[in-house]
Parts: sequence; structure tokens; C-alpha cells
Amino acid sequence: MADTIIKIDLSKSPYENEQVHNRWHPDIPMAAMVKPGDDFIVECHDWTGGQINNDDSADDVRDVDLTQVHFLSGPVGVEGAEPGDLLVVEILDIGTFEESQWGFNGFFSKQNGGGFLTEHYPDAQKSIWDFNGMFTKSRHIPGVEFAGLIHPGLIGCLPSKEMLAEWNRREKELYDTDPDRVPQLAALPFADTAHMGKLTGTAKQEAAAEGARTVPPREHGGNCDIKDLSRGSTIYFPVYVKDGGLSVGDLHFSQGDGEITFCGAIEMAGWIHMRVNLIKGGMEKYAIKNPIFKPSPMTPKYDDYLIFEGVSVDEQGKQHYLDVHVAYRQAVLNAIEYLKKFGYTGAQAYSLLGCAPVQGHISGVVDIPNACATLWLPTDIFDFDVKPNMEGPTTQVAPGTDLPLSKDK
Ligand code: ZN
Repeated sequence: MADTIIKIDLSKSPYENEQVHNRWHPDIPMAAMVKPGDDFIVECHDWTGGQINNDDSADDVRDVDLTQVHFLSGPVGVEGAEPGDLLVVEILDIGTFEESQWGFNGFFSKQNGGGFLTEHYPDAQKSIWDFNGMFTKSRHIPGVEFAGLIHPGLIGCLPSKEMLAEWNRREKELYDTDPDRVPQLAALPFADTAHMGKLTGTAKQEAAAEGARTVPPREHGGNCDIKDLSRGSTIYFPVYVKDGGLSVGDLHFSQGDGEITFCGAIEMAGWIHMRVNLIKGGMEKYAIKNPIFKPSPMTPKYDDYLIFEGVSVDEQGKQHYLDVHVAYRQAVLNAIEYLKKFGYTGAQAYSLLGCAPVQGHISGVVDIPNACATLWLPTDIFDFDVKPNMEGPTTQVAPGTDLPLSKDK
């Protein structure tokens, strides 16, 4: 059995664990060292570090302190790794803790983070998902059960000093175009809640003031939220600092493409078993700027879909030019309206599309003025026939149920 090189305690605050951090900065010391060819296990908090409870109130989602996220385990140093190398990471397995057989999904309130459909669902809501081996279902969304395509939402290596400065420059520039926007345009450095792993004293203060937030995906990978980057896949990461510094967290039991609900996929605490190797000078050898990866040989077999189309005309009838974001939003809204005909509330349908193994595709980006995006809804996750037929939607799955809604503050 591989060694567990980073352990966590779910009953304690992640701030007490110096092998955990929540900002990107090259000065964060390595939490542990391994050698090329080693395999090892890393334990992870859920991305909020335990801020969400397994209960029937969404007040915790409403009150989440987003400046604390994401809690990452690492950085793991790999002996011999140097800037310009590729760090090869095989995800050998991912699992849940015996004492924590559940996960959560939610949407943030518009005032606190929002989400893809925040104009339509401005209040905080959540659904709880129970794990039964490789399957999951939710007491808040009846009529569905599916196999998890388990993966880390967030994984990547520490940035160099120069790269960090560039991230901060460009994100501040965007933020400054509309500093009062709700939700904000970018999450800028915020020292007060920074957890810089083993760093202490003045060095910690300085790094905390400029440490990049973990919210966006960037050149190093980071918070990509790619559901297919699942157990069994192999990832090739650019290395920017000596020893590489691999960090991981934000484990998802399952997620739909786009992670549209933002308070995640099905978010969970758990462990990840990885093996690392190096390709010396691999960034230049293969012209790698962003990570590349090879998917798992194993995926849940859902091969029948209802596919919803959307084009880049928004809810007010305004024409947008080849805008994939608008088009995907229309595909999602179309799928929600369809599911409402089977008795789901809009919030239940929205949450389901954030959690289930839904595929999102950019189908066309050249046919002016409309981009076309598609949302692929797997039909076999439902315990009733969700396809259209002559009789109409006779099944009503969820009368009287809805997602817990937060109270107004
Ligand atoms: Zn997540």
C-alpha cells in the first residue's frame, strides 16, 4: 500500500494543517517530498474546508466565506523537477472517507459569488448527495441515480514569481473595468484569510498579500473542473519552480460539463492516489503551455442522451455575435424548462445539471451571428422515461419537494 504523505483531520480547521494552503505562491514550502516513479496518497478537505453541512438548510451556502477557498493539499515536491520540465501525474485512484459518505452541490446567492444562472436563481440553495459505493442519489432531487466519474476539480503546480505577477496584473486590469460589479469580475489577492502552508512570520505576510486566489483555471491547470480528468487519467503539467510543487483539492464525486452551479459539482472530502514522473525539458519538447491529459480507460457507460441546443440569442431576445457563453446558457435553460414538465422545480433541474454526467459541447462557432452549444443529458440516470413520446410527460417525479432555500439575512 502506498504511503499517505498528507493526512487531514475532518474535525479540525484546515488552517491548523501546515500541509494545506489556499493561495498560489512560489514561496510556499513543499509539504512533502517524493521521487520520480513514487506513488503516494494525499488526503483532501472538501473545497470549502468543511463550511457546508449534511442537513436541510442552505444558510451555510448563503454564508460561505469565499475568500477562504480552495483548501488544497500540498505542495508535493518532486526531486529533480526544474522549470521547463513536464510533471507526469497518473491518477491511480480516488476515494471517499468511511466517515464522510456524502457530498454537496449548491448555488451561491448572487451577492456572494453567484453562478452560471445567477440572474434566474439569485438565492442560495443546496442539494445533498449520498454515496452508495460508486453510485449516488439525493434526497432533494428524487428520480435520479448515477455512477460517479470521480475527479479532482483542482490540480496544478506552483507558479514562478514572474507568472504570479502576470496573473495578478491581468486580473486586476479586468477587475478595474467594473470594480463595483456583483458578482465581481475576478477574485484578487486577499491576505486576511490566506493560508500559506508552512510559511510563517514576515515571509508569510508578504506572500499572503500577493498570493493568487485559487478560483480561476490558469496556464498551470489549477481549477479547471474537467470531469474527464478522472481516476485513471494521466496529466502532463508544466513545471515553473524547483521541485515542481504539485497541489490538489476540490474533489468531485461527479460533475456536469461547465460546473454550472459554481458551489460546485458534487463536492466531497476524500483521498487521491497518484504516481509522478518527469519529462526533462518536456515543455519545449512538446510545445506545452497549458497542461494536457489522457483520460481514464474507465468511464460510466451512459451512451443515450437527449441533446438540447442553444444559440447566442439571450433571454431578452438580444443577438450576440458567436458568443458560446450565451449559447450554452440557452441550452441549459432549455433543458431546465423541459425537466420542469416532469415535476422538477427549476432549482432541482439546475442542480441536477451541475451534478450529473452531463456533457457540454461547442457545436458551431462559425455560422454568423449564432454560436451553437449543446447540452447532452444522459437518459439512463432517470428511473422513468425522460424522452418525448405521444402521451406527453406522464411521470411527475417530485411533487411537493424542492431544494432547501436559504432564509433572507
Ligand atoms: Zn468543486
